[in-house]
Amino acid sequence: MLRAKMSIATLGGTLSMQRTTPGAGITPVLGGEALLASTPALKELADVHVESLSLLPSASMDFDFLLTVLSWAKRQVAQGAQGVVITQGTDTLEETATFFEYLWDLDQPLVLTGAMRGADQPGADGRANVLDACRVALSEDSAKRGVLVVMNAEIHQALTVRKTHSLALQAFASPNVGPAGMIIEHRVHFSRPAAARKTVPWPVRTTQKVALLEAVLSADTTLVEQLVPLGYEGLVIAGFGAGHVSEQWSTVLEPIAAQMPIIVSTRCGAGSTASDTYGFKGGEIDLINKGLHMGGCLCPRKARILLWLLIGSDSAHELSRFV
Ligand code: ASP
Repeated sequence: MLRAKMSIATLGGTLSMQRTTPGAGITPVLGGEALLASTPALKELADVHVESLSLLPSASMDFDFLLTVLSWAKRQVAQGAQGVVITQGTDTLEETATFFEYLWDLDQPLVLTGAMRGADQPGADGRANVLDACRVALSEDSAKRGVLVVMNAEIHQALTVRKTHSLALQAFASPNVGPAGMIIEHRVHFSRPAAARKTVPWPVRTTQKVALLEAVLSADTTLVEQLVPLGYEGLVIAGFGAGHVSEQWSTVLEPIAAQMPIIVSTRCGAGSTASDTYGFKGGEIDLINKGLHMGGCLCPRKARILLWLLIGSDSAHELSRFV
């Protein structure tokens, strides 16, 4: 019988970290070969090809590098991989997943995972997460679901998942909708069908700057006013409540919205922006009338990635198709 083929790329993160000097902190040192050697069960699942693409803490990856990773993943599918798994640090996993989701136009699953405990810590979760991620990548039920995140036996969709705890094993959640599925006794179970997805064309440039600013109490407007002179081409605001800013911000944002796309998402961590509830200056009705877009359920970090990709592919005029 023909064995299934799959590929794994390792990028770094806690999953690849251990202590190299007694008393020092953990750092990324373990690449793909080490992962394969320490997880013999991987070879029982499929014909596994592993590559180490970096050994970085995930905060230090950038969009240009992620495009390289994505090209690598697409090549794996072109060469016959049934699914692809990427391991990386959990700190930016929700952003990477979003970036990949908007560009992944294949039916095969692309699955991201990481670890909350270093490889040499008691109860390290990395190997279990990788095995679960591979099971998901190999499952027929994962087709046409785009990019998935597998952590702690849960399967999350890229556009909803967030890191909601800094150190706990159960660090990932999808606030408005819950996980899309689970891994139970090594088997993959989805609790809802695959939904329609929207992808963005591959960026033609990567130099565009998109700011993310949080609305906070008694904030001045200096940074907002400097965005155009500093060369920013887009802005995301993590707004108060259902997508609100102060009166002062509302005033300065009006002329800026005529020059660049602005998305207002909620800073609450769950829920959606409103569209026709609040009538005060700085409320969503005022901001929409001034040309700002409401982010809906898309969290501010994910909205920034969407906007960066749309601007980079000359598709910013398509923004209202997405939020
Ligand atoms: N704490 C992070 C992790 O869980 C470090 C990183 O994101 O690289 O992997």
